[in-house]
Amino acid sequence: MGHYDGRAQVVGGGTDLLLEIQQGRHPVVEAMVDTSRIKGLDLITNDNDHIVIGCAVTHTQIVNAEPIIRHGTCLVESCGVIGGPQVRNVATLAGNVAHALPAGDGTIGLLALDGEVEVTDANECRWIPMREVFLGPGKSSIDHHRSILTRLRFKPTETRAGSAFARVMRPQGVALPIISMAARLQLGDDNTIISARISLGPAGPVPYLAETAMAVLANGSANAGQFEKAAQAVLSAVQLRTSKHRASQEYRAEMITTHLPLILERAAERACNGDAVPVGVGQ
Ligand SMILES: Cc1cc2nc3c(=O)[nH]c(=O)nc-3n(C[C@H](O)[C@H](O)[C@H](O)COP(=O)(O)OP(=O)(O)OC[C@H]3O[C@@H](n4cnc5c(N)ncnc54)[C@H](O)[C@@H]3O)c2cc1C
Repeated sequence: MGHYDGRAQVVGGGTDLLLEIQQGRHPVVEAMVDTSRIKGLDLITNDNDHIVIGCAVTHTQIVNAEPIIRHGTCLVESCGVIGGPQVRNVATLAGNVAHALPAGDGTIGLLALDGEVEVTDANECRWIPMREVFLGPGKSSIDHHRSILTRLRFKPTETRAGSAFARVMRPQGVALPIISMAARLQLGDDNTIISARISLGPAGPVPYLAETAMAVLANGSANAGQFEKAAQAVLSAVQLRTSKHRASQEYRAEMITTHLPLILERAAERACNGDAVPVGVGQ
């Protein structure tokens, strides 16, 4: 990348980048730096505090990774609905995050897990909260001509924690969802919510962290009434829009009202039962 001095671009699976070039939505690049065979970056590892995902790891690898199924179920459920098997076999979570779309499915899943990303350039290698990547629709703080998002990580869920993801999408397989939502809950022994994280998109220019709703849930009971209040809190704070080919603003709001309480319920059940069987993968 140094040699090409800003004229090379990082490529993972190429399922976004190559199509954009082919369709004339992205200028042709002089050289591509392919991450898929950089030794060690195609692995999912467990260091003392985190589950670490190399940038060459595909969605298929994530869907089949036991520690992520157990400790990051919503990430498995979100990567498991991306494209079809052919796409998931080559596309990476790193590419999904680096592309910085407001509703990349894997991105929404990882945001609910409070993910971090490692950015490496010629001078340094540093971990940043993944929210710092997103500057606007398709605009990332990672200069993919000079830097590589080398790894992603999240803390494994503790006991009595669980997460879940769901997506509402037109069945014709357009790559972008009507709305994607993910949640992680940490419960106490008496079913009090110790902490909650909720992410969704598209709901503004960047992947949305529903802080108002998270505050509504914290220290309350994990029950249906609270989950409905959280969905209302999302609606009071979020910027939904009507998009011509996907859904109206009102329909998106209705889908949040309907589905977010169900996701929270599923996350709470998983926290209570210690059960983490992903649903919807491959659909
Ligand atoms: C048929 C089809 C269906 C799809 N369905 C979905 C869907 O349901 N949900 C969804 O979210 N997406 C979907 N996508 C989009 C795409 O598959 C995903 O976003 C995928 O995760 C992108 O990963 P990739 O490795 O292919 O990225 P690439 O195309 O390789 O790269 C995407 C962008 O990220 C940059 N980049 C890639 N890796 C790095 C890195 N390590 N460091 C820095 N920059 C990097 C590239 O320069 C480029 O700008 C679909 C695509 C297709 C073709």
